Amino acid sequence: MHPILPALATVSALLLGPALEAQEKSKTSEAAHVRRELDKKELEARLDELRDGLLTKMMPANIAKKRKNEQKKWLRKFQVVQSEHYLVYTNAAANSVKKFAKSLEEMYEYIRERFPFEDKHEHLTAFIFRTKDDYTEFCVNISGMERSRAKKTAGHANGRYYATYYQSPTAATVVHESSHQVVYRGLGINGVGSWFQEGIAVYIEKQYTGEGKPSAGMKGALRSERYYPLEKFMALSSLLGDPEGNGHRNYDHSGALIDFMANTKLEPVAGKFSEFLLNARGVPRGLEPSRRLIKETYGLSLPELEGLWKQHYGLKN
Ligand SMILES: [Zn+2]
Repeated sequence: MHPILPALATVSALLLGPALEAQEKSKTSEAAHVRRELDKKELEARLDELRDGLLTKMMPANIAKKRKNEQKKWLRKFQVVQSEHYLVYTNAAANSVKKFAKSLEEMYEYIRERFPFEDKHEHLTAFIFRTKDDYTEFCVNISGMERSRAKKTAGHANGRYYATYYQSPTAATVVHESSHQVVYRGLGINGVGSWFQEGIAVYIEKQYTGEGKPSAGMKGALRSERYYPLEKFMALSSLLGDPEGNGHRNYDHSGALIDFMANTKLEPVAGKFSEFLLNARGVPRGLEPSRRLIKETYGLSLPELEGLWKQHYGLKN
């Protein structure tokens, strides 16, 4: 049996009860807020809105300097693929994007099975660009990234969208970035800190792709003190942007920390990850909010949680 299943059973009962109730109510007053399948006309209207707005804004320079009808042609290439939870906007071949949408759906269900949440939010938006160049224009003109940084990313996600260019839909980076979106919108958690946001994405990515265990190497790191104490770790505003240059190590450690929190059998952390996720909603980013969240959920200080983490691997404090 999966170690976190008992906790999930509790949270399902907690969440699904109100969810069903909400569905009943929604039939009358809240119908507009519940996701439903959009018809052709509605999809076309969404596309037009995008073509006039965001897509015009990100038009590559070589297209923008062409005549209006050439620009229109470029804009008309964009289509939308609708799946149960996603609207995928794309200028890549619609058939390959359908496969992409299928992968996103599988990932979505995978996350929801492990960390249940109410499934009544609106469609998640994804942009799958045909080329990396198109994606880079989107990063710079829509997401406000520096061009040099944009070129180093293979995808990014926030509460509003997940954007990438066409690549294998089961690639680790697709799983990682799209899980950020599900955590934001599905679980409703957009704060806490980089340690949590990256940790849960790394954890899901490794579990889902089977490319390495989330906890690999952590025991050795904890034993040899090659890690940041939680007080320092949770204060990092960006794990990757760590001024000491341990970005990749931080990612591994964050995934291992989530693995410990989700799967340990040690009290008082055992079986409480679902409660942690519920408490994490609306918590801002930072060390102090993280400290309060850990205290509220487990009754532990950060050094106490860290001590337990070592104990989880059979290490002495
Ligand atoms: Zn990430």
